[in-house]
Amino acid sequence: MRINSKQFLSKGVKALTLALTMGVANNAAAELNIFACEPEYAALAKELAPDAKIYSATTAMQDPHQVQARPSLIAKMRQADLAICAGADLEVGWLPMLQMKSANAKVRSTDQGLFFAAEQIETLDQLTSVDRSMGDVHAKGNPHLHFDPVRMLDVAKALTNKMIQLDPQAESEYEAALVSFSQRWQAAIPNWEAKAKPLQGSKVIAYHSSFKYLFNWIGIEQVADLEPKPGIPPSSSHLASLLSRTKQGDILAIVIASYQSERGAEWLAERSDLPVLVLPMSVGGNDQSVDLFSLYDSAIDMLLSAKN
Ligand SMILES: [Zn+2]
Repeated sequence: MRINSKQFLSKGVKALTLALTMGVANNAAAELNIFACEPEYAALAKELAPDAKIYSATTAMQDPHQVQARPSLIAKMRQADLAICAGADLEVGWLPMLQMKSANAKVRSTDQGLFFAAEQIETLDQLTSVDRSMGDVHAKGNPHLHFDPVRMLDVAKALTNKMIQLDPQAESEYEAALVSFSQRWQAAIPNWEAKAKPLQGSKVIAYHSSFKYLFNWIGIEQVADLEPKPGIPPSSSHLASLLSRTKQGDILAIVIASYQSERGAEWLAERSDLPVLVLPMSVGGNDQSVDLFSLYDSAIDMLLSAKN
């Protein structure tokens, strides 16, 4: 049978159109619009949904407890299919405002596209009774859980389930991404633990409970906090008491996070002759921390540097 050029062209265009439509449909299925409250969850989303459109509301240089509900954040949340946040009330001062102003029903409830990492795991340091005199404490436990590799793996699994719930057409893609991430992550854990071994039993003075999970995991003891109470910056009387604590001679370093003020730490460092380590609070907290893997490496390497 002879096909003239006009028929051929028509068939070709039809096939091409079909291919394009299918291609677009396939891609659209794995392209959730994701709003992450913190960069560590943007990084996790990137591992688990590489084709998604991902936006982080904060950087590692910002205090995630205190964020302005700016119009740009409201606009981003308005477009989101999924919002991923640490939870345990870390964002209680700003997330409800963003949700209200963005009026996006998709991310209003955890039944839908709202995901709290802390709800997927057991948090450290949960408090049974809280009163105002205790400062800005985390009653639902410490929300800074992203430096615990085992908890993060549990979060990754739960997050994958959430993505599949919201975007069931792309289930196989999310499953494959989780397998890839889990394999690389589980291979990295023993390497991190071996590298961090010399840090076991070390004592540090740190700012807030930001690295509690990291210290807990690798066996570092935070013997004192630069904050006299959670959310309260170091006072001179408090710093004086920390200085007398350093006289015992057993402290490895003063540890602060990339977003925290160095002033109190520097004051103490000058008088105690201890090093100040500014650890990346999250991905982007320093040049080395470009993803979750390098974030862990960088934090452990910096702590090790104080041993030498
Ligand atoms: Zn906190």
